[in-house]
Amino acid sequence: MADYCAEIAEAPERLARPEVQKLTPYQSARRIVAAAGGRGDIWLNANESAESVPMALQTERFNRYPEPQPEAVVEAYAAYAGVSTEQILVTRGGDEGIELLVRTFCRPGEDAVLQFPPTYGMYAVSAETNGAKVINLVTAPDRGWVPDAAETAHTLDTRPEVKLVFACSPGNPTGTLIPMGVLRKLAQVAAGRALLVIDEAYIEFSPADTAVDLLKEFPHVVIIRTLSKAFALAGLRCGFLLSSPGVIGMLKKVIAPYPIPSPV
Ligand SMILES: *Cc1c(COP(=O)(O)O)cnc(C)c1O
Repeated sequence: MADYCAEIAEAPERLARPEVQKLTPYQSARRIVAAAGGRGDIWLNANESAESVPMALQTERFNRYPEPQPEAVVEAYAAYAGVSTEQILVTRGGDEGIELLVRTFCRPGEDAVLQFPPTYGMYAVSAETNGAKVINLVTAPDRGWVPDAAETAHTLDTRPEVKLVFACSPGNPTGTLIPMGVLRKLAQVAAGRALLVIDEAYIEFSPADTAVDLLKEFPHVVIIRTLSKAFALAGLRCGFLLSSPGVIGMLKKVIAPYPIPSPV
């Protein structure tokens, strides 16, 4: 039996993993405004749609568990994205996709994710809450906020613990599109070492620039999508990961058994 500790008996939150105790929680758009004493109900910093989509809800089957991966959603999104149904995982928003990638590919205390700040905050939050290190290759305005493929190659050579490379295009918060030539270079330098995760949360605002064609060439490329932004459905919590069937199969082992609520 472990030793009784009066301090822990009084504050059992101290049993939490040390990296979680040290963590600064993710600041949602609403929390940031509330902390500053702000009021109102428009949060430009949440990137929500201003318009709501009218919907009717069928409530008579809430006694049943939902389909683990709802077929109608998978088929419709596969047709929309131009991939096969084996290349899709439906998730609770893009954020769950990020979390699942870290939990599936990074060993706590050993592996790392690579990102190109300034970038979306959840890559680091998911890495840190799961005990993965975060390696930053900062981009700069004089380089057009575009990741440097040679620097990335060097980092992957010297840091074999990197398992995920997160590239956001169009970039949040920069709005920058990473040129397809650079994304292909990143895919080439990551091959055999790490997954290249391209976050396309905003791709509907520049649809011709999707990296979906890279999926045909590279089984280690993953694309994150969401219905939260252009589809005006942030409250529904629905996102997608697109990749090769092998990668999707691994993620399916880790995702919760019934992640997608029936209304989705
Ligand atoms: C909004 C956003 C997401 C995911 O949002 P969800 O609401 O969880 O789908 C992912 N990546 C970026 C860059 C975003 O801005």
